[in-house]
Amino acid sequence: MSDVLILGEIKEGSIDTRTLELVSVGKRLAGERGGDACVLILGDAPQGAAAEAASYGPAKVYSVGHPLLKGFQPEFWLAALEQVCKQIKPGVFLMSHSYRGMELGPRLSCRLGARLTTDCIDLAIDPQDGLLLRTKPVSGGNAISVFKCPGEPQMATVRGKVFEPAAAGEAKGEIVEIGVELDASMAKVISLEVVKEEIVALDKADVVVAGGAGLGEEDGFEALEDLRKALSKSFGNVMIGCSRVAVDKGWISSDHQVGLTGTMISPDLYVAVGISGAIQHLVGMVHSKKIIAINTDAGCNMFKVADYGVVEDYGKIIPALVQKLEELS
Ligand SMILES: Cc1cc2nc3c(=O)[nH]c(=O)nc-3n(C[C@H](O)[C@H](O)[C@H](O)COP(=O)(O)OP(=O)(O)OC[C@H]3O[C@@H](n4cnc5c(N)ncnc54)[C@H](O)[C@@H]3O)c2cc1C
Repeated sequence: MSDVLILGEIKEGSIDTRTLELVSVGKRLAGERGGDACVLILGDAPQGAAAEAASYGPAKVYSVGHPLLKGFQPEFWLAALEQVCKQIKPGVFLMSHSYRGMELGPRLSCRLGARLTTDCIDLAIDPQDGLLLRTKPVSGGNAISVFKCPGEPQMATVRGKVFEPAAAGEAKGEIVEIGVELDASMAKVISLEVVKEEIVALDKADVVVAGGAGLGEEDGFEALEDLRKALSKSFGNVMIGCSRVAVDKGWISSDHQVGLTGTMISPDLYVAVGISGAIQHLVGMVHSKKIIAINTDAGCNMFKVADYGVVEDYGKIIPALVQKLEELS
């Protein structure tokens, strides 16, 4: 009942970084509750992923294999999760605030009679009663609230990139196989087809260079593209983001939009160019590790959250910045 259970997710054959972030916070929380951090891997052949998860040092990895857990059919995953939770009775159950976590979390909490808090940006244990303190933005990001709920398991989905991922180490977790009973008649989806499309996965970017109304015209994004390319020589995955106004003006597609009705991100570096810093935008990027703002208005909100700021026309700053980066690379 003191253990912290983490739902493992696999991306392109490996444990997803978001799961590793949960492992690192899960270890801390388990320590505070006097229990262990454990990872749960579901799949039709989960052995490889379970072994990989074990190398990140959780106390245990529960490996649940069943032919119907191939791919992701929520009904089968839900039934498996319900059975596993009833069997091992975790004190805390964490999932990523990913598509899977968003799909499974509310439905599972309902089945278990537990209370779920979604999209948490911080977690702690109340030393008085051992309950999970769940911090999340509320009121469209205008405020941050801390929730505490009774009952077990204590459940939360956690936003990506707010915790450092766990690193692989010497200590390997014990792998425990658990059987589940699933029936093909549980399926509500008859066939599942994965459509491959070009997706702008802004939440996976290390650096986001974002433009807003201050670019003045669509061509302003060409200057940002030059900066993106120059930064790509020194940083990993550099992507273009934008404010909603840039989308509304038709300068760029909506999958680049950052904010309340766009993507929530926390990259290592966020460069805000000609973006005023409306609350609906800030809520999507304020947890970036470093923020650089370029804006002609010294009084704009973006400067209040920026680590570094340049009060200047972007048309002068960006080419100079690109040139300097080229010289340094
Ligand atoms: C329900 C709701 C949801 C919303 N969701 C989102 C969301 O998800 N994401 C989002 O972004 N917005 C969202 N919005 C819109 C939001 O309120 C703002 O309108 C929007 O973020 C403003 O975009 P902007 O900063 O690009 O434009 P503006 O507020 O017009 O700011 C432009 C900035 O550019 C600067 N500037 C001008 N010329 C230059 C120059 N040459 N060089 C440098 N700087 C210059 C100006 O000083 C100004 O600060 C939402 C609004 C609502 C009501």
